[in-house]
Amino acid sequence: MSMTFSLPDGFVRSYPPESPPRGESRWLLFRGEDVVVSECGSTVEVLRATEIETLVDAPLSELAYLGQLDGMPCIAGAIPPDAHLAEGLRTMDLRSLFEHFDPELYAVAGYGYQILRWRRASRFCAFCGGATEPVDGEWGRRCGSCNHVAYPHVSPCVIVLIHDGGDRLVLAHRRGRGAMRSLIAGFLEPGESLEAALRREVREEVGLEVDDIRYYASQPWPFPHQLMVGFFAHHAGGEIRVDGEELDEAQWYSFDQLPTLPGPISIARRLIDAFVVDVRTRRSAGRSE
Ligand SMILES: [Zn+2]
Repeated sequence: MSMTFSLPDGFVRSYPPESPPRGESRWLLFRGEDVVVSECGSTVEVLRATEIETLVDAPLSELAYLGQLDGMPCIAGAIPPDAHLAEGLRTMDLRSLFEHFDPELYAVAGYGYQILRWRRASRFCAFCGGATEPVDGEWGRRCGSCNHVAYPHVSPCVIVLIHDGGDRLVLAHRRGRGAMRSLIAGFLEPGESLEAALRREVREEVGLEVDDIRYYASQPWPFPHQLMVGFFAHHAGGEIRVDGEELDEAQWYSFDQLPTLPGPISIARRLIDAFVVDVRTRRSAGRSE
């Protein structure tokens, strides 16, 4: 099972980083936070090298050769947020491109987004404020004054589907998220294991205790640089109680009476879908006995 934003097997990363090759390539070109695409009818595509030369009349503020996807070089670049776009080009935010790109290219776009964003945020040293320079042979950037080296960040988060051992699961409503209900999730704190973070988040957000914690899968999430680590956990005690701040409502739902759920881009949805399949499988096994 391949998760959204996981770099596919057909992608060969360019590492140590090298200059982009000449010739045909696909460009993940960012203007501010958005991707520049060419639009023809309902088809949305990333730019090709020739289109970069002929249609983009703006200086590149960042450039990173990411690697090859099925043999095709993929390059990430950034133009200024106020750069003018030629006719036939438009920008779309990375989330909405999920419906337009195939999963492999979409994962590469997420990778390029994180690398460029990190570079933009790392021009100056976090310790002394000195200017940084790229380190040869890696993504790192070294401070010219104090020698501190910084690398792209990845922030682990746990996300958990709490079930009752039968056909019910806990879904919560986050303030300001419309009708959508989703799973409990949160960032790891320094010094925590994944399991400890999971227990703490569940306790803090819905006041429950859990046991039988089972790993499901993980998913990179480039908004801005998380790794979502998904689990199932069994409800071991306590009644649901929300803090009323971050979450304003949470309750048990039966697998066949689910509210508005997150879209298929998210590991939350994958966990919920897997749970529903599991309940159905258990039920039909029960009937056939
Ligand atoms: Zn420094």
